[in-house]
Amino acid sequence: MTASSRVRYPVGVPHLPTAGILPPHILWAIVANGDAEQRAWALQALAVSERIRGRRELLGDIATAAAAAAPGKQRTVYDAKHGSQLPGAKARGEGDPPGKDVAVNEAYDGAGATYDLYHEVFGRDSIDDRGMPLLSTVHYRRGYDNAFWDGSQMVYGDGDGKIFGRFTKAVDVIGHELTHGVTQYEANLDYADQPGALNESVSDVFGSLVKPRTLGQTAGRADWLIGAGLFTPAIRGVALRSMAAPGTAYDDPLIGSDPQPADMAHYVETADDNGGVHINSGIPNRAFYLAAVAIGGFAWEKAGRVWYVTLRDRLRPTSDFKAAANLTIAVARELFGARGAAAKAVAAAWAEVGVL
Ligand SMILES: [Zn+2]
Repeated sequence: MTASSRVRYPVGVPHLPTAGILPPHILWAIVANGDAEQRAWALQALAVSERIRGRRELLGDIATAAAAAAPGKQRTVYDAKHGSQLPGAKARGEGDPPGKDVAVNEAYDGAGATYDLYHEVFGRDSIDDRGMPLLSTVHYRRGYDNAFWDGSQMVYGDGDGKIFGRFTKAVDVIGHELTHGVTQYEANLDYADQPGALNESVSDVFGSLVKPRTLGQTAGRADWLIGAGLFTPAIRGVALRSMAAPGTAYDDPLIGSDPQPADMAHYVETADDNGGVHINSGIPNRAFYLAAVAIGGFAWEKAGRVWYVTLRDRLRPTSDFKAAANLTIAVARELFGARGAAAKAVAAAWAEVGVL
């Protein structure tokens, strides 16, 4: 489907992620357990997320940014200089050599690695498949603990230095947030309940392919972590999420313990977080991990291709886990043979997590 043929949905049906890479359950844990300063910025981060949601509703869609599109990779990184005006001052354009600012260079390289995954593996030209420029802003606010896609560009905080460092450090976070843009153009999954958890999961799936691709790692060698390296050493945790073992990424007195379930028997029914979109995403995440590892080789070549075609052509805004399972199996059969090992691995993965 092309963007122009996309049906617009009524106001009030959430289609955009509202919290960024940092799930609200971590921010609320910091509000509950942090010192006065930490509570203050966690509350501020939650409030900023609300304002971003308002801004997104005003934007309506991302046609404004897409209007400037020409084919090919076009990255621009801006510096907000610790303010909140977007996009900020231009710091690096496409083809410019690296400068001294690590965050600028990481945002540039991460956008490039994500563009390359989509372009070289799936034949997609940027977020809208029409060369939409990839805009990023670094140094957003002071000590800001999040990274997000605002409907038209990427935004990164520097972290507070006590819990989180800078958010450009994890390339899978960049891939995750840019994939929210791809999802917006394709399946446009509702951002609530199971469709919302699928929306979060596909961002983790494509985000998780970026780093091993830059490192030349097979599915069996990849770490399958989202946000590895974001926590400071003071926090007991390895990442924000683990696709291989949901629920094991962190366990810390300040930020709480990873609430993700690994299968349907532990599905979390909650009204928080739009129905647990950052929580229950652990289930389809693990299905992708199990399929990719069972198929073997580079995860983007078969499992990634199956998930990409499913996201682009098959999923609908209200698709649930069972629909995603059946659609990925059908796509695996079409792409790699009705009795092929890929289709069998995908079916076994969804059975293992209890969706089928
Ligand atoms: Zn997300």
